[in-house]
Amino acid sequence: MPLNATLLEMLACPSDDHAPLREDNRGGAPVLVCTFCESTYPIEDGIPVLLLDEAEPGPRGIGIDASAESPAGPPLTPEPSPDPDGQA
Ligand SMILES: [Zn+2]
Repeated sequence: MPLNATLLEMLACPSDDHAPLREDNRGGAPVLVCTFCESTYPIEDGIPVLLLDEAEPGPRGIGIDASAESPAGPPLTPEPSPDPDGQA
């Protein structure tokens, strides 16, 4: 049973990208696919299971843009606080 279109519009990827989802099929089973990170979420008994634990990550991982042509270099690591002595 296809999902209600209005419901589908309300749903979003539960990762940080919060991108819209589209319906798809995986092996005959209905799924929702994130339009940004392409992570796949199952639909069980017509109810989308938008849980990161239940998701199949996209090609670059959950919440990471799957359509990027090439990686934008090494992942950015947060700079440590420029306060080595802890003095405030
Ligand atoms: Zn996503």
